[in-house]
Amino acid sequence: MSKKAYITTPIYYVNDIPHIGHAYTTIIADSLARFYRLKNYDTFFLTGTDEHGQKIEQAAAARGKSAKEYADEISAKFRALWDDFEISYDCFIRTTDENHKLGAQKAFEVMFKNGDIYKGEYEGHYCVSCETFFTDSQLINNEYCPDCGKVTTIVKEESYFFRLSAYQDKLLKWYEDADECVIPKAKKNEVISFVKQGLRDLSITRASFDWGIKLPPSLGDSKHVLYVWLDALVNYISALGYGTDEKNISYWPASFHLVGKDILRFHAIYWPAFLMSLNLPLPKHIAAHGWWTRNGEKMSKSKGNVVNPREVAQAYGLENFRYFLLREVPFGQDGDFSQKALIDRINSDLGNELGNLLNRIIGMSGKYSGYKLDSSSVLKFYKKDIDAADAVLCSAEAYMYELQTNKYLEEIWKILTLANQSITIYEPWVKIKEGKNEEAAAIVALSANLLAKAAVLFSPIMPKTAFSIAKSLGFELNTKAYEKLIVNKNLLDKTVITPIAPLFPRIEKELMNTPEPEAQKKEARKDEQLISADKFFNSKIQIGSIIKAETIEKSDRLLKLSVDIGEAAPRQILSAIKAYYEPKNLEGVQVCVVTNLKPAKIMGFESYGMVLTAEDKNGISLITPQTLKDVGAIVK
Ligand SMILES: [Zn+2]
Repeated sequence: MSKKAYITTPIYYVNDIPHIGHAYTTIIADSLARFYRLKNYDTFFLTGTDEHGQKIEQAAAARGKSAKEYADEISAKFRALWDDFEISYDCFIRTTDENHKLGAQKAFEVMFKNGDIYKGEYEGHYCVSCETFFTDSQLINNEYCPDCGKVTTIVKEESYFFRLSAYQDKLLKWYEDADECVIPKAKKNEVISFVKQGLRDLSITRASFDWGIKLPPSLGDSKHVLYVWLDALVNYISALGYGTDEKNISYWPASFHLVGKDILRFHAIYWPAFLMSLNLPLPKHIAAHGWWTRNGEKMSKSKGNVVNPREVAQAYGLENFRYFLLREVPFGQDGDFSQKALIDRINSDLGNELGNLLNRIIGMSGKYSGYKLDSSSVLKFYKKDIDAADAVLCSAEAYMYELQTNKYLEEIWKILTLANQSITIYEPWVKIKEGKNEEAAAIVALSANLLAKAAVLFSPIMPKTAFSIAKSLGFELNTKAYEKLIVNKNLLDKTVITPIAPLFPRIEKELMNTPEPEAQKKEARKDEQLISADKFFNSKIQIGSIIKAETIEKSDRLLKLSVDIGEAAPRQILSAIKAYYEPKNLEGVQVCVVTNLKPAKIMGFESYGMVLTAEDKNGISLITPQTLKDVGAIVK
């Protein structure tokens, strides 16, 4: 039996459509799964969707759909994107799957039997949006959710609790013993200090909504559904058949759980504690990555700057996008997406270094040897170059296990640089002129072998590109090639090179229409001018009835009105409507009056309010109610 690898993405919550963050996690996981397969591990790669909880219930209701219909729709969007992206998952799990439900119930049952679950009453500040309870000290201004900033509500309900507090010391011991159980290290330290502050028992059921997995029938308590985090985390074992057929359970424990940093706490604290309670081995690595910004700004729906991964892949090519995501950011840190950075990577790393190297090899082999490639003299002339490259490639793999994909690619690119340099330095065209044909052929073969070795190792990240290169160089890219070229440090057999079109045509201008920075600014200004409803209701507007209207001497514009708004005495209000109304026609006319303005003095007269008017090219009209209203009635 070969060694096993089990790679997971988080299951994505179906309250959102896929964005660049989802694509990033999934593409890292996919690359890792392909890396293990290349190394002949028996690999299982899991992704899927998380579909229960109050938030989904509410989002579905708001759209007039059942929760299941809504979940079906969003889950299908995720699956379609991963299929279009040729993500090599072995299982796409949905928490609404029957097998998952049985697995989650089984887990609850086992934890209950092991004495880790008890019934109690929970009272806490609950954020509906985050589906999380918070303690007093966690709230912002005693009221707002520390994660999303929305108002929390106090919820008191019967609940089952998991004895998380009993696992504090065991968790701390695990973090200490298993050095790389949480990566990167900085994130692990955050987890440790959180646990050291003390863990409270965890409420793991809800009775306040229905959209979730019921408790196992053996408990005879159908009021409760599983808390969404317990439900979700169990997917990593239910997908392997836990609680049902156990078909793939031998893949457990996970080699890598890929997660975003926002959900690390659930994975690095709750999940191992649940597993300890279930007497199951703990995952080998829980790896937390950072977030993406766009052009240095946080992405949000309201800004309209969310990066749509499908749009990027369509404009720039999926393989190029994959390379960019994994090359641009050190794992664990936040990354910035911009078309400029992407274009730079494509034109420089991919075009100048990689694509150009292949073109040179094709050109030289055509010219010097009729496309025949023979590696037999490489070691005779250029052993030190091959040895140097093998040493770099050997050490590169370590970065992949730490998910430092940027460093992994940097190392591989050193080989491409070496290959390009060797052509420039050894000048095969000079050797040919000098009649040193064997040496010239060896230079071409040297660079072809370096490219072949590099392509094998970057194939998990750019599978199609690597396969095209292998095809052009005349070898088959598979586990055998990995063993031959990387593990055993051998060279290519005699092959024939097939010319192909350049892989990375130069990109001269941005290919996606994004909101221009100027347009974004304008948008922001427009936002600033908007006011909240509260602000509007600061103005008190009431219906008034004009009792008397008089002209003011020396003023062509003003009329002095006496307006009854239901107070003890009518108010004196000055209004610039003289040019449009005969005073005597105004008596008895109802108007809208802003009644909470500070009094103003106009042309020596006090004015206690403002009469609303509308003005266009035909002049000014008073605003009046469509039918007569009681004086003092509120306008809103
Ligand atoms: Zn919240």
